[in-house]
Amino acid sequence: MNGRATTGAARPAADATRVLVLNSGSSSVKYQLLDMADESRLASGLVERIGEEGGVADHTAALDRAARELKDRGLGLDSPRLAAIGHRVVHGGTRFTAPTLITDEVVEEIRRLVPLAPLHNPANITGITVARELRPDLPQVAVFDTAFHSTVPEAAARYAIDTETADRYGIRRYGFHGTSHAFVSAATAELLGRAPAEVNVIVLHLGNGASASAVRGGVCVDTSMGLTPLEGLVMGTRSGDVDPGVLLHLEREAGMSTDEVDRLLNKRSGLLGLCGDNDMREIGRRMAEGDAAAQLAFDVYVHRLRRYVGAFTAVLGRVDAVVFTAGVGENSAAVREAALRGLEPLGIEMDSVRNAVRASGPRLVSAPSSRVAVAVVPTDEELAIARDTYALALHPPQEVG
Ligand code: ADP
Repeated sequence: MNGRATTGAARPAADATRVLVLNSGSSSVKYQLLDMADESRLASGLVERIGEEGGVADHTAALDRAARELKDRGLGLDSPRLAAIGHRVVHGGTRFTAPTLITDEVVEEIRRLVPLAPLHNPANITGITVARELRPDLPQVAVFDTAFHSTVPEAAARYAIDTETADRYGIRRYGFHGTSHAFVSAATAELLGRAPAEVNVIVLHLGNGASASAVRGGVCVDTSMGLTPLEGLVMGTRSGDVDPGVLLHLEREAGMSTDEVDRLLNKRSGLLGLCGDNDMREIGRRMAEGDAAAQLAFDVYVHRLRRYVGAFTAVLGRVDAVVFTAGVGENSAAVREAALRGLEPLGIEMDSVRNAVRASGPRLVSAPSSRVAVAVVPTDEELAIARDTYALALHPPQEVG
C-alpha cells in the first residue's frame, strides 16, 4: 500500500475551495465536485454497472473514468483549487463516531470492519486508495454512514441476545443513512426557525433503502436499521423487519443456503418481493388500475412506516416534527398521506392540499393547527459530506503523539 499519510498536509490555499465527494458503492461510483465558497455544484456524475456486462471492469476503472470526465470538463483532479476529497464510508463500527481525516491507520481500521459491511466497505476502501494515489498531497476525509447513530443509548442499540456472543462478533444496532438523518434533522429545525437542540424529530428517509430515526435535540436516540441495513422499514428490494425464525425456517424447511437467504432478503424482498416492482411510481400506476399485488405492497410499506412513527413517538415522548426525505419521501404525497392518516390523537394533522403540491425545497405539509409539524426536506448527503470534509481540511485536529 502507498504509505503516505495525509494528516500532516498543509492547509489549503485561500482559493482552494473545491471539494470532491466520492461515493464508491458496491456496483457504482457517484461523484460530485462542489465549491465550498458558495456551496455550488460544479459537476456530478455516476459510473454504473461496475463488474457487469457493458460496464467498467472494476472500481479502479470506474474512478479513472470519473477522473477523466472531470478533466474533460476542465475540472481535473490536478487542479490547485481542489482543497480536499471526501469519501462516504458505510460502516464505521464503534470505532468511528465522527468524520475522520484519512491516514494509513484509518484505512486499516476501515478494512477491519469489512466483515460488518462485506459489500460496501471494500468498495469504499478502493475509492480511498485510488484517490490517495491520485492526490497524496490532499487531505482526504472519511464520513461514516453509521456515525450519527453512535449516540443511540445501549437500551436501544443492544439486541437481547447473549452479551458475550454479541460483543465477540460486534453484534449491535449501528444504523445507517446517518449523514442524511443528521442533515435532514438539522434542516428541519431550521425550517421551524428553532435551534436543533430544542427540537425532537422523527426522520423518515425513504429511498431505495429506507430508515427511520428518532432525534432528540439534535442527538440520535434510536434508529430502524441495525447491524446491517436490512432491518426496519420495508425497502425497494429489502425485507426490513422479519422474525429471525423466518431465516431458520427457510434453512431447515426450504433447504436454502446462507447465501440464498441473503439474496432473498436483500434483493428479492421488500416492494419487489411483494409485487414485482420496486419503484413507488410504478406501484402507484398499478394501484390506480386496481392491481391487488401493488396495493398489498403499498399497504405493507405504509403499515411498517406507521409502526415506526408510533414507536419513535413513544421513544421521544414529545415530537415536534415528522419529516420525510429521499426519493419516495420527497415525492410521494400518497405515501406521506397514508402513513400519517388518522394520527390526530398523536397531534399529527396533515394538510392534504399542501401535501399534494409538488415542490422541490424544504416545506411544511401539516395543517397550521397541527401540534406536530409534518415536513418534507430534501436530503443532500453529498453537500453534508463536503461540509464535513472542508471543515476538517480547514481545521485539522492536532496530531496526537
Ligand atoms: P437511493 O436510495 O438510491 O439514493 P432515492 O432516494 O433516489 O434512492 O430514491 C429512489 C426511489 O424514489 C425510487 O425507487 C422511487 O421508488 C422513488 N421515487 C422517485 N421519484 C418518485 C416519485 N415522483 N413518486 C414516487 N416515488 C418516487
